[in-house]
Amino acid sequence: MRLSTITNWAYGATVLLTLASGTTMLLASGAEEQERAAVAQRATFDQLTATLEEDVYRLTEQARGFAITRDPTHVVAYNRERAALRSVEDRITHLKDAGADESELAALRQALHWADTLTEDQERAIRAAQAGDDSTARTILFGDEYGRELDRVAAQVAKFQYMLDQRTDNAVRSATDSARQWRRMSEITLGITALLFLFVLYFVLKQRILRPVVRLSDVVTRLAAQDFAAEPPNFPQVDEIGDMAQAIRIFRENGLERQRLEQERDVDRTMRDLLSRMTQRLQGCDSTQDLVDVVRRFTPEIAPDFPGRLYIHDLRRNMMVEACAWLTPHQSRTEFLPSACWALRRGQTHKPVGREMVDIACEHLDDGGPISTICIPLAAQGESIGLLYFEQPGAVASDALDRTEKYLEMLAENIGLALANLRLRDALREMAMADALTGLANRRRFDAALEQQVEEAERLKTPFSCLMIDIDHFKRFNDSYGHDAGDAVLRAVGAVLRESLREQGFAFRLGGEEFVLLMPGFAIGQAIERAEQVRERIRTLKVEHRGQELGPVTASFGLAVFPDHGPADTIMRTADAALLRAKTEGRDRVVIATVRDGASALA
Ligand code: GH3
Ligand code: MG
Ligand code: MG
Repeated sequence: MRLSTITNWAYGATVLLTLASGTTMLLASGAEEQERAAVAQRATFDQLTATLEEDVYRLTEQARGFAITRDPTHVVAYNRERAALRSVEDRITHLKDAGADESELAALRQALHWADTLTEDQERAIRAAQAGDDSTARTILFGDEYGRELDRVAAQVAKFQYMLDQRTDNAVRSATDSARQWRRMSEITLGITALLFLFVLYFVLKQRILRPVVRLSDVVTRLAAQDFAAEPPNFPQVDEIGDMAQAIRIFRENGLERQRLEQERDVDRTMRDLLSRMTQRLQGCDSTQDLVDVVRRFTPEIAPDFPGRLYIHDLRRNMMVEACAWLTPHQSRTEFLPSACWALRRGQTHKPVGREMVDIACEHLDDGGPISTICIPLAAQGESIGLLYFEQPGAVASDALDRTEKYLEMLAENIGLALANLRLRDALREMAMADALTGLANRRRFDAALEQQVEEAERLKTPFSCLMIDIDHFKRFNDSYGHDAGDAVLRAVGAVLRESLREQGFAFRLGGEEFVLLMPGFAIGQAIERAEQVRERIRTLKVEHRGQELGPVTASFGLAVFPDHGPADTIMRTADAALLRAKTEGRDRVVIATVRDGASALA
């Protein structure tokens, strides 16, 4: 039942009870009025009957006085008293109107009848006395009969008074009883009204004020402690409590909005910290593998729930090759042609599936399925050097998605820059390690390669050969045909060396017209064979410069083999010693080192 219905009923009942209480009060006072009237009536009757009795006695006295004294004043007094008695009789005849009942009136009438009889006797006696018949008068007035009649009047009056007393007592008692009952009922009704009123007051206070205030206070306490899960109750009533609930609801909504903004700011700060840390690590990367490790570690932190892959462009094969993956992506092949990706084709982020706009899925996705994908190209100076591929989780709020995509773009920019830097660094390193004239690796790279080969050969106990080469009388080419012609000879010899070792081994230009071949795994026989082949090819070279054929080119060779000619780390010097001998022995030959060469190299 609604609160308003209950209170309306209660108010109605209170009003009815109040009316009932008032009515019973009026009835109680009416009963008291009756009681008072009964008492007053009794007093009136008492007085009247007493007067009647007195008058009868007084008439008797006046009549008897006249009979005895013959004094006419008695007759005058008698007549006056007689008139008074008549007026009493008149009044008594109206007693019925004043509330006397029939039996009382009958008793009274009997008394009046006896009084009339007495007055007749008195008049008769007065008349006899006036006629001088004193004895008759005395006989009448002092006879037994008169006395009896007098007693009868008195008895009849007493009877009437007794009856009157009975009735009046009853009337007074019943009026008193009903007055008491009405008063009690009035008091009870008043009590019930007061109780009901108090109950309604308590009920309304508790339901409408106390309980809502307690609930609101509880919510306010929780909200003050930043517990925004506290829901303010909905009080639709239009009063101060309703206003308060509405104000608390607005306060909570503001708090929630503030909390959301703070959380967003915190997330944003965390993300920017992560991105900044990742950028620092990327800048410190020495190799592509370093970069891949950093990407694999940081990307799932920056975009949790977004599985993905990093592809790096393999220039030699013109393929996008997966470098790493995180959070188990379901789609996208591990290798594909750059043209299979729309992001790479357009040089822009491509998000084909699950968007509002119709778009085309990339070919490198296996079946295009229901997964939303994001391809972000990694570019450097307009060239696509890689690709970041992501799969978007199913349920993400659009604002959260926008934020994450922003981070992904920043991520791609940083990775792209780092990758481009690495490529540039590799290219510079490559340039620093290569000899510009012949395209062979230079002295610096030779040192590194030799160290590595020595270490490997010693560890694996495999043979390895070192062939030192020096062009014979090279200075003459310079002197005879010019420096450019000398360069042409160097390029031609370099080409021979590169081709001779295409499948195995490494060729280096050490400087000037000196070269070296490192042949890992070549035992002495195989190495001699290869050295002779190279010597023969150089010999048969036909070098032209500006249309002029340059003279024959020969070279001297010093060959040293590990482990035959001593320890691996002295192999180059051993080969050098052999080369020196080749020069002194007449040039255009291969001289194989001896153990002595190795020993002298050690010395
Ligand atoms: P040998 O048979 O004893 O080795 O005599 P050679 O003339 O080959 O040896 P030498 O060391 O006397 O001469 C080397 C010359 O190579 C000296 C130098 O001017 C020349 N040279 C060094 N580097 C280059 C280069 O890059 N280009 C050209 N054209 N000449 C160079
Ligand atoms: Mg030389
Ligand atoms: Mg030389």
